[in-house]
Amino acid sequence: MESEKLTLAIQKSGRLSEGTIELLKLCGIKVSNEGNHLKALAEGFPLEILLLRDDDIPQYVADGVADIGMLGMNEVLEKDKKIDVVKYLGFSKCRLSIAIPRDAKYTGIESLEGKRIATSYPVILEKFLEKKNIKADIHSISGSVEIAPGIGLADVIFEIVSSGGTLLSNGLKEVDVIMKSEAVLVAYPNLTESKKKLLNKLLFRIEAVQKAKSNKYILLNAPENKLNEIVKLIPGMKSPTILPLAQKNWFSLHSVISEDDFWNVIDNLKSAGAEGILVVPIEKMVL
Ligand code: ATP
Ligand code: ZN
Repeated sequence: MESEKLTLAIQKSGRLSEGTIELLKLCGIKVSNEGNHLKALAEGFPLEILLLRDDDIPQYVADGVADIGMLGMNEVLEKDKKIDVVKYLGFSKCRLSIAIPRDAKYTGIESLEGKRIATSYPVILEKFLEKKNIKADIHSISGSVEIAPGIGLADVIFEIVSSGGTLLSNGLKEVDVIMKSEAVLVAYPNLTESKKKLLNKLLFRIEAVQKAKSNKYILLNAPENKLNEIVKLIPGMKSPTILPLAQKNWFSLHSVISEDDFWNVIDNLKSAGAEGILVVPIEKMVL
């Protein structure tokens, strides 16, 4: 059907919003949210956007009210609904950690035995403790978990830690990272074939954006007698482009290199005789 749309649930405002809007923008999708509405319009892709609290996104997607959603993996695991995680998105990275009063002792997970642990992630914590065969008393609270030890409600907390500043001001220290989280794309498990096609189209765009982010375009000059060696160092997507320079026996090579081994490759190129190396970002990459 020509007019079919995918319904995408995103966080209305908070620590996921910026990364979500930025990713959609790089995928050629502009979200206009005028006013304080539950729905927003998208340009550049057949999407209908629902603006929700992140806590509500798993249920909306599990019920099929939203076809897809973007939220933190921590919230996906905590809500434990029947939804598919289809893509890790690489933003809103954070960690869920155990923190204890500054002067308290901690020698490892076994130190949690018999303790009162305050958290807003009781499901994740319970599963973790069960796996480690540790019995503790979980106090589920929804906000300001960091104050729990100070007011005598708990001995330990299990929470998202960002800078550590909140911990410090509450006399706490981080002692163990239990899980790392980032934003993910989730989907209703029973999407119709036509909606699956739309989802694949969106995934294609997200993958092109992600590939572009992890690669750089590289240009360099090299004398003819060094070309063979240099070509081997920057194989690129198929093989590098070689263009003659105005100066005799000199060439310009263009290729793509991965962000991961960027500095190694640059060092090797220099030793191999490359000059005038330019590295520029890539906006989209389609293999
Ligand atoms: P809502 O009003 O939508 O329920 P919230 O207060 O639950 O919002 P936020 O603080 O906006 O949530 O965090 C949303 C998500 O962003 C978290 O579930 C987590 O995945 C991620 N996140 C949390 N803290 C950070 C951080 N310091 N840096 C990056 N990502 C974070
Ligand atoms: Zn929330």
